Amino acid sequence: MQCDIAVIGAGAIGLSTALHGALRGRSVVLVERATAGSQASGRAAGLFKSVQADELRTRIARRSIDAAVSFGDWAGEPLPVCRSGSYLVARTPQHAQYLRTEAAQSRGWGVDVREATASELADGVGYYHGSGHELALHCPEDIYIDEPVSLVRALLAAARRHGVQVLEGEAAQAVTLSAGRVTGLDTFARTITAPVVVDAAGAWTRQVAGLAGGEVALAAVRHQLLVTEPAPELDPAAPICRVVDAAVYLRPNRGGLMVGGFEADPLALDPQDQPVSFGTDDVPLDRTVLDGMAALVAKEVPLATAGAAELRGGLFTMSPDGRFVAGPVPDVPGLWVASGCNGSGFSSSLGLGEAVADWITGEDQRLDISDLSPARFGAFTREELVKAGAWQYAHYYDPAAS
Ligand SMILES: Cc1cc2nc3c(=O)[nH]c(=O)nc-3n(C[C@H](O)[C@H](O)[C@H](O)COP(=O)(O)OP(=O)(O)OC[C@H]3O[C@@H](n4cnc5c(N)ncnc54)[C@H](O)[C@@H]3O)c2cc1C
Repeated sequence: MQCDIAVIGAGAIGLSTALHGALRGRSVVLVERATAGSQASGRAAGLFKSVQADELRTRIARRSIDAAVSFGDWAGEPLPVCRSGSYLVARTPQHAQYLRTEAAQSRGWGVDVREATASELADGVGYYHGSGHELALHCPEDIYIDEPVSLVRALLAAARRHGVQVLEGEAAQAVTLSAGRVTGLDTFARTITAPVVVDAAGAWTRQVAGLAGGEVALAAVRHQLLVTEPAPELDPAAPICRVVDAAVYLRPNRGGLMVGGFEADPLALDPQDQPVSFGTDDVPLDRTVLDGMAALVAKEVPLATAGAAELRGGLFTMSPDGRFVAGPVPDVPGLWVASGCNGSGFSSSLGLGEAVADWITGEDQRLDISDLSPARFGAFTREELVKAGAWQYAHYYDPAAS
């Protein structure tokens, strides 16, 4: 097989990159070792967040929100989106200060974010019973995708419609090189010749880059959520609520309440140390961590402690500075990376894939993402990557903390 761009990994980021490559008129082949969306992308909470820690992430996040809402228009496939808006809540003065700073910055970058009064919070988020002393921000632009598989299915259908050849059940086993330049990849079934190979392998990104001798600074850590048993009193149209001092997020799902959050000391898990068959289903889930998170918000959100109907988890791919890793891999011409989700890969996939495809094709780059290049990092040991990644994970909602 021969193509202009070969993409490794059919998660949300690889699918989006492949789709946008095809929309630029390039021939694209995408190889996936399991099935599309079967790993981190199929486990996401589906939350999109317009308030981000820096301008570039904000632009990617907002472009992705627009692209999700208008998916049918530009990609030709339906995508159900819940335009619920969201609330950010801080119950401590220190976290209120973080939120005020973020809100002021975000407004400067064009985000619609407003301070909500106690009664607006009470009316807006029926499942949150506040003390009246918290700081709440309302972000009306925010959306969620109720079942993450809908985004995967829509991207897969759109990619195929626009000519991407998607090969599921085919792992990239080698990235081929000639005179140090990428010439394509091998799966067990075929050789694919391509001048550009994009590593969008999620938690396996480092391993896949290593096939070509490339270095990408990432570490994988566990993330978990639960969905409570259905609760008739819960309004299914209620918005997302993020309680930042507890690092907990909430939204309605399947008649119950989704409760997820960020541990202070997350479990790092490198697929490289695991058997070849290792996948998301093998990530050990820890109910006590989730119960601990629910307990942190139990006073305001009693529903969070209801019985769990589902436990869900998988791996985040964290970078040392908490930002995406996207662009050409140093010292391996022709190898590109689109990864480093840092917990926002699902919601930013539409904007990030578009920007990577623009950069590869050299066409009208709508978002300059050169700051996200993997070349920004020096050498890290695995231990340093895990330490830095875990710090970023634990400070997902308060990156200004030190
Ligand atoms: C519980 C949970 C909740 C989350 N909630 C949110 C959320 O609300 N919002 C948000 O934005 N993000 C969320 N995330 C993060 C989000 O899921 C990820 O950022 C995103 O899905 C990453 O997409 P990806 O394409 O990089 O990775 P993946 O979806 O993991 O895709 C990578 C793919 O590469 C394939 N692959 C690996 N090696 C090879 C190989 N050698 N050859 C071929 N294929 C290969 C894998 O099989 C996999 O399918 C959540 C994650 C978890 C676990």
